[in-house]
Amino acid sequence: MLVAGNWKMFKGPQETVSFLESFEAPAGVEIVVCPPFTSLAAAVGRGLAVYAQNVHWAAEGAFTGEISAPMLLELGVDGAIVGHSERRQLFGETDETVRLRCEAALDAGLRVIACVGETETEREAGETDAVLRRQVAAIPRHDALVIAYEPVWAIGTGKTATPELAQEAHETIKELHDTRVLYGGSVKPDNAAALMTQPAVDGALVGGASLDPDSFAEICRAAVS
Ligand code: PEP
Repeated sequence: MLVAGNWKMFKGPQETVSFLESFEAPAGVEIVVCPPFTSLAAAVGRGLAVYAQNVHWAAEGAFTGEISAPMLLELGVDGAIVGHSERRQLFGETDETVRLRCEAALDAGLRVIACVGETETEREAGETDAVLRRQVAAIPRHDALVIAYEPVWAIGTGKTATPELAQEAHETIKELHDTRVLYGGSVKPDNAAALMTQPAVDGALVGGASLDPDSFAEICRAAVS
């Protein structure tokens, strides 16, 4: 099981250090934290795997505001999230840029959590399967890559996919891509066990509930049991 905490644009270096000092990591589960870029250096070397929340496909160049895989590796960062729905919805991320970012990160030696998931409108229109197929087709096959299924309607909304619905979507993804699949979307301490006991759910990508060390530790413990 792998549990990753996506801190989004929360926690500067000081808060990052306080979190990691009080977080009690259970044994028996792979744990990843994904702080914002400016807190990565503070998080590295404190016993947990550290991923960035995005990575550019070029090693260097005229790409204002972007960060490359070699730059992340130089800091000691282990991996990166790619294609989070907030990047797709707010910052123009496409399947093609997701593919480019994944390939560059993997080639450079980073691990990747590549995100897919349908919007509420797409689900209501019966397009979930087609959307997942299109998004998964753009994701490279690689041992260092896992996919996170994050239905957009469940992210930060408190609406969680039922364990059965998550299981069904994960089965679809696994038919298309032989990889571990994490579930993401309002995972909390009280629903984590029910989601992670589904056979096709290999862990969780956690947003809001990963910001508090106790609630994140409780979710990590649910992955162990
Ligand atoms: C996320 O940001 O990847 C996420 C799943 O957020 P939340 O857990 O807050 O829904």
